[in-house]
Amino acid sequence: MPQLITTLGAKDQHELGLILPHEHVFVDLRTWDQPGYARAETSDVIRLMGPELTRAAAAGISALVECSPVGVGRRADILKAVSEATNFPLVAATGIYREPWIPPWAHAAGEDELDEWMTNELLGEIEQTGVQAGFIKLSAGDNGLTPAETKVLRAAARAARHSGSAIASHTLRGRVVRDQLDIIESCGYTAHRFIWVHANVEPDFSLNLEMARRGAWIEYDGIGGQGQPDEYFIGRILKLLDAGLGERILLSQDRGWYDPAQPGGGKPQAFTYITEHFLPNLRLAGVDEQVIRLITCQNPFSAFSR
Ligand SMILES: [Zn+2]
Repeated sequence: MPQLITTLGAKDQHELGLILPHEHVFVDLRTWDQPGYARAETSDVIRLMGPELTRAAAAGISALVECSPVGVGRRADILKAVSEATNFPLVAATGIYREPWIPPWAHAAGEDELDEWMTNELLGEIEQTGVQAGFIKLSAGDNGLTPAETKVLRAAARAARHSGSAIASHTLRGRVVRDQLDIIESCGYTAHRFIWVHANVEPDFSLNLEMARRGAWIEYDGIGGQGQPDEYFIGRILKLLDAGLGERILLSQDRGWYDPAQPGGGKPQAFTYITEHFLPNLRLAGVDEQVIRLITCQNPFSAFSR
């Protein structure tokens, strides 16, 4: 039976309901060389983000995928502490973000070494925290993959194949996703375990369709954000459903988070926009409960479980 690997252990599908596939509890978007990078008191993060997770649980959200890999301040120890303080399961990432966030050790490492590092985190634990990585998160530049990003992706494809894991990538352009899928397949893995993060940012919807038909997950994760109104997302969802591709849709908000660059971690955004505002609008657009269950409960479990 496939299970979702979380900070509170492996979960069966019947233990979970609605899962948000792309949110953040702790992120530092400065680069690794900045003073104070990725540093915070764990108790401060619990104070700021604990109530947000408690509110999410009250809104019927059963788990969220924390999409911060190495490069943007990953702190599995903090995720574990916040998760245990609130009894709310988070899914933690292995993997490395794109340039210029790739740290020097990863530039120096070879593909075999990166494969081994990710495989160890996916099958064992992250940095002696007791947290097992649930999936791989990485990224690619908007104009195509750099040699370092290609090395990380090839290593990720191999680590994902060894462990049966998903690879989620922050990729804004569909033509770059096309290259990523080619690389993953050339490493013997499959487009079906690839999650196209920020697929809503690609202006050409035909590229969403192309990648969904090829098997990739199409993640619309800016819901409730500044960029695109609910109608934009609903339009794309209806088109994917019409094309018979409801089984490839993921919905999330890319919200949160404690930011060490801000005094007191800044002001977090609630994780409840989808449950409180977006799903009622999706129902008004004629999407029935069975389909909503598919795209908010079943699909994220299928995408990330192993
Ligand atoms: Zn994100």
